[in-house]
Amino acid sequence: MTAAKSNVLRRAGIHPDLASVLFTDAQIKRRVHSLAAEIKAVYGAREFTIVSLINGAVMFTADLMRQIDNPVRLDCIRVSSYGALTKSVGVPQVIASITIDITNRDVLLVDDILDTGKTLTLVAELIRKQKPSSLRSCVLLDKKSRREVPFQADFVGFDIPDKFVVGYGLDFAERYRNLPCIGVLKPAAQAAPK
Ligand code: 5GP
Ligand code: MG
Repeated sequence: MTAAKSNVLRRAGIHPDLASVLFTDAQIKRRVHSLAAEIKAVYGAREFTIVSLINGAVMFTADLMRQIDNPVRLDCIRVSSYGALTKSVGVPQVIASITIDITNRDVLLVDDILDTGKTLTLVAELIRKQKPSSLRSCVLLDKKSRREVPFQADFVGFDIPDKFVVGYGLDFAERYRNLPCIGVLKPAAQAAPK
């Protein structure tokens, strides 16, 4: 890309490594707000426990829980990530598990994106072993066409096509998490990350 074109994109607030923007920060904000209402309609005024899959779900979890005025407990779980790849390979592994007690609690798993379904299946199995009174899941993005194991989230922000996306918590080799929008990463930006 020429320097001039890259400046145009920057002035428009679009990162030059993005081929396209799928959701602007305003669109994300509106959807997070309505998702919170959907979640509250299910839990009523009850307390529930959010288990957030880090690092990817950090932004989404932070914004979502601030739209919910129920009593809420929070813990995080870290599952092995793609590293510098754009397709999920092998079997995900839990690297750091939760530490709070979730037995007889209403648990809501929160993740950035549901892809093959392997990660949430693994985490749901692990949580179920601790006998929560209920277990639901909420993802901001759902790539339904990529599913390899059957997993359906209870709350979905947006369905998206099979494209590798970054921004709003989603990374490529730990970069781009701080973009306020969600966009498709250019193939050229996927080469040889440092
Ligand atoms: P799954 O186990 O469902 O295949 O993958 C879920 C995880 O893969 C997500 O939590 C996310 O970390 C990662 N992932 C899947 N698709 C994408 C994508 O398009 N962009 C990014 N940045 N991460 C993705
Ligand atoms: Mg993730």
